[in-house]
Amino acid sequence: MSEFAAALVRWQRQFGRKDLPWQLEPTPYRVWVSEIMLQQTQVVTVIDYYQRFMQAFPSVTALAAAELDDVLHHWTGLGYYARGRNLHKSAQAIVEQYNGELPTQQDELEALPGIGPSTAGAIRALSQNQRGVILDGNVKRVLARHEAVHGFPGLRSVSQHLWEVATTLTPEKNVATYTQAIMDLGAMICTRKQPKCGECPVQTTCKGLAANQVATLPTPKPKQAKPSRSAKFFLIMNAAEEVLLEQRPPMGLWGGLWAPLQYPQDSDPLLVLAELGFSETQIGDIATAASFKHTFTHFHLIATPVYVTVTKHPLMIAEHGRDWHSLHDLLSRNGAPRQIGLPKPAVMMLTDLASRLNND
Ligand code: SF4
Repeated sequence: MSEFAAALVRWQRQFGRKDLPWQLEPTPYRVWVSEIMLQQTQVVTVIDYYQRFMQAFPSVTALAAAELDDVLHHWTGLGYYARGRNLHKSAQAIVEQYNGELPTQQDELEALPGIGPSTAGAIRALSQNQRGVILDGNVKRVLARHEAVHGFPGLRSVSQHLWEVATTLTPEKNVATYTQAIMDLGAMICTRKQPKCGECPVQTTCKGLAANQVATLPTPKPKQAKPSRSAKFFLIMNAAEEVLLEQRPPMGLWGGLWAPLQYPQDSDPLLVLAELGFSETQIGDIATAASFKHTFTHFHLIATPVYVTVTKHPLMIAEHGRDWHSLHDLLSRNGAPRQIGLPKPAVMMLTDLASRLNND
């Protein structure tokens, strides 16, 4: 074992995290779900979601048998919903191909939707103590600094170099402890801002520290202005306080989630409502609210909510993936008769609509 790995293993035993929910019973399934949730989300945010998810889907078979709507409902607020869709798809493949048990080989794991080399490595290392290499965001930062690797890690060449470094440093023995250690080091000591180099177990071998380059490593992403897209979102509510939502197609932005009806920014509300089949006598109030910004990885969405009340509605409207949903049930975490996945901006608009109702 390299001095780097040995120092990390010693440090983990004394100072590392040992009571995260997925560490208490690290089965392959529990580690897999935690790794997917942690991909773009901080530990503190993940814990509650993880516990609710495990309660709802305690096994691969339970997850495979669940409705996608229900899975996405448990993902609501976590973002990056492809992760939830892929978990569901993979669970079904595991039931079909592996009798409900996660496979143990790296290539078998990597063949499942949403599992890349690093996630497969983490599952193997943390749940089976099998040699598996990980290179998540935290580990990239630690290795870029420790080995003084320059260049934005999002670039293929840099990431490949870091993968080679990670492979060299991963030990054969104690791989579970080592893997947890390097993740913990990134989260607790070698943090993005103000790393605590004075408390770091590998400070004596850290090339970035020796060269006084810690503050500039890893190399940040070259700045690029994100484009903006604008859209109007129609929150049409009937007299029973049900809101008309539409389910997005399975692929693409918000795939499989339910959201208020989206129209181009310059749409005329009366024309939209007429197109949906509402006659003038069926329409009550129309209020256009202030726009707000929601940022995705590749663009900003400028959303303008349009709140509409309708007294009656055309019978044919609950078609084309559209349906009425009780506003109260949508906003309560428990007891909703029909649980569906909602993207964060939809939750924000629905919450605003509910507070408008309460203020009336
Ligand atoms: S010495 Fe500092 S920069 Fe180097 S690995 Fe430790 S915390 Fe990170």
